[in-house]
Amino acid sequence: MTSAGAVALELSPPPSGDDGGVPPGLARIRAFVNTREIDGDEVVEGLATPADLRAWAMAHGLAGGGAAFDDADVALVIGVREALRDLLEGNAGHPVDPGAVAVLDEAAAGSPVALRFGADGAARLVPGADGVRALLGQVFADVAQAAADGSWARLKACANGGCRWAYVDASRNRSGRWCSMAGCGNRMKGRAYRRRARAGAGGGAVAGGGAVAGGGAVAEARTD
Ligand SMILES: [Zn+2]
Repeated sequence: MTSAGAVALELSPPPSGDDGGVPPGLARIRAFVNTREIDGDEVVEGLATPADLRAWAMAHGLAGGGAAFDDADVALVIGVREALRDLLEGNAGHPVDPGAVAVLDEAAAGSPVALRFGADGAARLVPGADGVRALLGQVFADVAQAAADGSWARLKACANGGCRWAYVDASRNRSGRWCSMAGCGNRMKGRAYRRRARAGAGGGAVAGGGAVAGGGAVAEARTD
């Protein structure tokens, strides 16, 4: 039985490979943010070209996916994606960059979302524009849905600055800080341990500013 006046927001199908318990819209935002993969000083950009953007949008059921995008669209989408990543760091307890908020505000103003009613009477948030603006409208509708159902606060960016992978914090008290304990959690704890050990040893050359730990390749796989 549905109570009168309740509005259920329904969006496009979830990304494939979704894990149980994660709302479809939240999973799609996570997939969007993770189109850029950072591993230390190595970055893999999944949306480097208009063709990449088109393929990704179609694969994830995003409105506007059939559009012919150009380089300016790619730059716009990447700007929004990185601003969202900043917000996910905010969800993890870090200060939110005002510049990221400004980027999102401006992009949202140009990417309207409209309320539509289906034949079954259910209300849906749908993009109110075409092309890349439809794609962004869908992303913003997903954000609105996640904020409405309370799942938004669980979506975070990994506290490892050499990772920043978006992940859903499944910890009971929502205190998770890393994309995976086996990967970044141990990596960051190991780094802190080595720093303490170095400080304790009181000597030796300390290389660089410590932004990137010197030495070997980091091989842990992310879990999501
Ligand atoms: Zn990580």
